[in-house]
Order: sequence, then structure tokens, then C-alpha cells
Amino acid sequence: LTALVEQDLDKAAVTADQERIFLYLNAGLSADTNIAVNKGVDGVGLYRTEVPFLLQRSFPSEEEQAAQYRAILTSYPDKSVVMRTLDIGGDKPLPYLTIEEDNPFLGWRGIRFTLDHPEIFLMQVRAMLKASIGLDNMDILLPMISGIPELDESKALIERAFEEVSAFAESQGQRLRRPKLGIMIEVPSILYQLPALKGRVDFISVGSNDLTQYLLAVDRNNSRVANVYDAFHPAVMQALKHIQTVSASLAMPVSVCGELAGDPLGALLLVGMGYRSLSMNTRNVAKIKYVLRHTALSDMEVLAAQALKATFGQDVRQMATAFVEQRG
Ligand code: PEP
Ligand code: MG
Repeated sequence: LTALVEQDLDKAAVTADQERIFLYLNAGLSADTNIAVNKGVDGVGLYRTEVPFLLQRSFPSEEEQAAQYRAILTSYPDKSVVMRTLDIGGDKPLPYLTIEEDNPFLGWRGIRFTLDHPEIFLMQVRAMLKASIGLDNMDILLPMISGIPELDESKALIERAFEEVSAFAESQGQRLRRPKLGIMIEVPSILYQLPALKGRVDFISVGSNDLTQYLLAVDRNNSRVANVYDAFHPAVMQALKHIQTVSASLAMPVSVCGELAGDPLGALLLVGMGYRSLSMNTRNVAKIKYVLRHTALSDMEVLAAQALKATFGQDVRQMATAFVEQRG
């Protein structure tokens, strides 16, 4: 079965009726850059930059960061690599930076932390831009955006870094491409501000892990409430459908990079809802390609429409499971 699942891994993902689905990798460790899988993916949809920060004993310097980012960018020379700015706090504390809070998931995390430390943010963005000199595949993604002021403030800082690095590149006779900018859709407030993103960002990426956590008010890592954490909860399904519908009406590119995209049932539902870009851990790529290749888009659409009418998360899961079982 493994051989069956892994065949055609170097080919692009398509559904049984040849609808092209764009598959990207979630990465963080360079160990994730598995070459066999890489040939058949469309790029890196989420590079979690906190991972190199977690491996160090103190904040990495601009040069250290640039070297790590450059290694990833050059591993995918002709594919897009979406680099997310530092998303520490919450479940990702840095050993050399103590943040003590009663509610870390509702506290100083992601963009909130870096906007309060513009020197860290600017250094990171400069490192990303320097790493991309002469290349044209680096895009930037901002985590935990809850409102437009955070986005506008981040953009002003990115612009400042861009001007600095672009002057440097020019002095070296090199060119610096302006990265595309996107935000994570993972804080529920932003679901009601999607139209305000038009013209401000080039793309959005749905973080279903945090979106589930925040929609259901359930800590994603607390085993006591693990039974409440359900990415198939009807409210999560409705939110995902809403994001897809609104981004399509705004002609705003959208992808999903939470764990749901790498779950076969989740991927079928997402594609059925209209998503065409999914980003996942390397280990899920073969499985997702296999499932997509053996299912017609029209069937996924029927499944998603049915799932969106469900009252219980359990029913969504059952429908999707039965759907997969019927097809062997
Ligand atoms: C998410 O929240 O779904 C996501 C992809 O980001 P992370 O898991 O790194 O918070
Ligand atoms: Mg997240």
C-alpha cells in the first residue's frame, strides 16, 4: 500500500477528474527538505521561522538568520517559499526569553510580540530580504493578525527594511524582488474584516489549528479539553467556507496551512468547499495526493455541501469517513 500511495509522488497533485490542486510544504527544520517529495510539490506554503530560533541559545544574529533563510530559498529555486515572521509565545516559548502570563495564548504572541519589539521584527525581515537577494521566490506571512492596525504597522516596518536592503542590493549591483505579503487567518476577528485586506495583502493563509482553538475557546494543547478541540466542528466548517467564499469574491489568493489540510478527510472537505491550495507536513503529502487522485472534484463538492449542513462535528467526520470508505 505504501508503494501505491507513494507512486507518482514527483507529479503535481490533481483530482480524479484532473482539477489541479496546489500542494505546499509546511517546514521549519531544514531536515524537512526531503528531495523526493519536493519535486512534486509547488513550494513551501509555511516556513515556521521560530524553529531556528528555538534551536539557538540566544537570539540568532541577522547574518545567522539570513544564512538559514537562504538555505531554504535556494532549496526551492523556482518555487515559492512563504516565510512567516516570528510566531513565539503561546505554545512556542523561547528558552532564552521568559514571558510569564496567565493566558499565553491570549497574550504576547506572534505579531503582538514582534510589533512591541520592532528591532527584532526589522532584523528578521532584513535577514529574509537579504537572503532573497538575486532570487525571486520569497514571500512573507504575518502570524496572529487580529485587526488592520497590526497589519498596517507591520507593513510600514517591512517597507523600511525593504528600502534599506534594496539600497544595499543596488550598491552590490544586485536586485531585490519585493516579496508578496500575506497574513495568517487564525484569529476569528479577522474573519469579519476580510474585505479590508483587499489591496493591503497579496494573499491569505488559513491557520486552522489556531482558528479552531480560538473559535471554540479551547487550548489546542490541553489534554483535559482535547475532546472539545475539533477542527470538524460545524462552526469551524462554516468559518472555513466563509473565508473561501469571501476570498474568491475578492479575487484574493487563499490557502490552508493548518493540520486540517494534511488530514485526508480535511483535504477532501477543503477542496470540496473550493480551496485549491493546501500546505502540509512532508509526511502527509503522499497520502493527500493519493486521496485527491482517486476522488472526483464533483464528489468532494457534494460531500462538502452535505458537511456544511451538519449540526454535529461527529456527523461531519462520519460523512467524510464513509465517503472515503465507499471509494476504498
Ligand atoms: C495554525 O495555527 O493553523 C498554523 C498553521 O500555525 P501554527 O500551528 O504554527 O500556530
Ligand atoms: Mg497558528
